Amino acid sequence: VTFQSLGVVDVLCETCDKLGWKKPSKIQEEAIPVALQGNDVIGLAETGSGKTGAFCIPVLQALLENPQRLFALVLTPTRELAFQIEEQFKALGSAIGIKTCVVVGGVDMMGQQIILAKKPHVVVATPGRLVDHLEKTKGFTLRSIKFLVLDEADRILNMDFESELDTILKVIPRERRTFLFSATMTGKVKKLQRAALTKPVKCAV
Ligand code: AMP
Repeated sequence: VTFQSLGVVDVLCETCDKLGWKKPSKIQEEAIPVALQGNDVIGLAETGSGKTGAFCIPVLQALLENPQRLFALVLTPTRELAFQIEEQFKALGSAIGIKTCVVVGGVDMMGQQIILAKKPHVVVATPGRLVDHLEKTKGFTLRSIKFLVLDEADRILNMDFESELDTILKVIPRERRTFLFSATMTGKVKKLQRAALTKPVKCAV
């Protein structure tokens, strides 16, 4: 199996090759074709499985087809994960000039407001700080978002971000694609799945 045989476009296949990603990981092999066919995806996979690539590649390929600012929103439970995800978007998107932004707590809002005003393609955020920006940052909206990624959904929910998630789901368009990745399928994750995804295809490794 190659990235090409999964339907990944040449420019992204070449980038994977340059990163030393010789072939897709199991979760990538399962999830990428399903995502490229236009489905919402539930990915059951742990950190280290290559799950970040499994959602970055389809988001970037969709962005290539529809180049647009504030295109994708990735929600993740922690600062560390947010920066790791941004790194993978930057690496995989290096050949296509992708602009990204991390929105997490613990740093001042101002720097993030300046970057958000420039309208990056991809925003990687923890839910609490994102809601702060929705409430306080003039002119910032999520109305143009085409892709929502819920990364480590079980951990987001365990950290009691449920009300922030509700707030965010209310302000992003219903007409969008959603990928949910989780290590475990708990009752709370199933509830979130019903609230946020449409006819999802489950991919497990
Ligand atoms: P993740 O599970 O998404 O946190 O990824 C774990 C690590 O695997 C990251 O450092 C990625 O750069 C790397 N990785 C992801 N996909 C592949 C692949 N297909 N081949 C080799 N390394 C990969």
